[in-house]
Amino acid sequence: MKDINTARTDFPILAREVNGKPLVYLDNAATMQKPQAVIDAVSRVYTDYNSNIHRGTHFLSNVCTGEFENAREKIQKFINARNSYEIIFTRGTTEAINLVANTFGDNFLSEDDEVIVSELEHHSNIVPWQLLRERKGIKLKVIPLNEDGELVLDEYYGMLNEKTRLVAVAHVSNALGTVNPVKEIIEAAHKMNAKVLIDGAQAVHHFPVDMRELDADFYVFSGHKLYGPTGIGVLYGKEELLNKMPPWHGGGEMIKNVTFEKTTYNELPFRFEAGTPDYAGAIGLGAAVDYLSSYSWEDIVGYEKELLDYATEKLSAIDGLKIYGTAEKKSGVVSFLVGKIHPYDMGVMLDKLGIAVRTGHHCAQPVMDRYGIPGTVRASFAIYNTKEEVDKLVDGIEKVKKIFG
Ligand code: PMP
Repeated sequence: MKDINTARTDFPILAREVNGKPLVYLDNAATMQKPQAVIDAVSRVYTDYNSNIHRGTHFLSNVCTGEFENAREKIQKFINARNSYEIIFTRGTTEAINLVANTFGDNFLSEDDEVIVSELEHHSNIVPWQLLRERKGIKLKVIPLNEDGELVLDEYYGMLNEKTRLVAVAHVSNALGTVNPVKEIIEAAHKMNAKVLIDGAQAVHHFPVDMRELDADFYVFSGHKLYGPTGIGVLYGKEELLNKMPPWHGGGEMIKNVTFEKTTYNELPFRFEAGTPDYAGAIGLGAAVDYLSSYSWEDIVGYEKELLDYATEKLSAIDGLKIYGTAEKKSGVVSFLVGKIHPYDMGVMLDKLGIAVRTGHHCAQPVMDRYGIPGTVRASFAIYNTKEEVDKLVDGIEKVKKIFG
């Protein structure tokens, strides 16, 4: 196993300067930087063996297909899914959720059936269900948050009934960092025969997730937040469910046989992968999974916890700074406001110091509404961040405070 304290040297972009200052990249919840191993893996596709996958009879196509399917198996192992064909490549979390809403949703839900989401969801896990509501007349119920940014589970248990068909919640909130008790959420839903989709976009890179242990029906995430390339993501679905779901996009690869009278569909996972997939992205994601797996989870979780605790302590000590999201279980994110300084102004001033944070509603407007604020400043962490960078953030905030009086 590699030493987690050396991770930083694997990420070439971290050596650059921004506005004449060494880059302090604290926008990891938006997207992660990429290690050289991932950059090389994608580059190798195009320099060594690029060719469209599947159905090829020639050498390059066979190599490329092999690497693509190998990546699927790496991801299967990474999340401990039972079968590699339960891993469907998508463009990302957003597309994966839309796929489920359009196939499972359109075919198995009807008027007055209920879908439960939560108040802390990313817009990606709200809007597809609202679109489904427009198409099918389903009801959408929302698990509320308490002041700390935790789901009020008693309210959730009270919402479940025989009309509940699907519960769709985030594993980790991108706006607050709250880690939701998804195992309990899944167990309770299953008792009512409802299915569960977990949005793992902010989870899979922070701690191990295990499909057999969690028993989620669907689990989705994005490659670019897992130290991998953009444009690639994953829908995990249980075999028996995926097999019952009709295809979503039609085109090449997803068919078995096409005539003008009737088309029959391919088996899993190809049935849901119409068109040429982002095979370079998938292979890059396989490399990202290999990269992350070169560290022990114990080290990753321990290092990131130490960093988050340190940041929380240092930021809390700043006069006038208020942290939003104080859940007992958190991962990767500190969201805050400083006095009356607008988050946008804070973001722009910190950028002048080379510090990248994200400001605004973080695609989670209902969370901001819950607290009656327009947005926050969000610092989010990865294995390559350091306590020194947290100190720079704290110094930067003090400087901005002085400028704004
Ligand atoms: N869900 C969560 C919790 C997220 O953090 C994000 C990305 N910010 C998404 C969904 C959407 O991911 P993508 O844009 O990669 O599809």
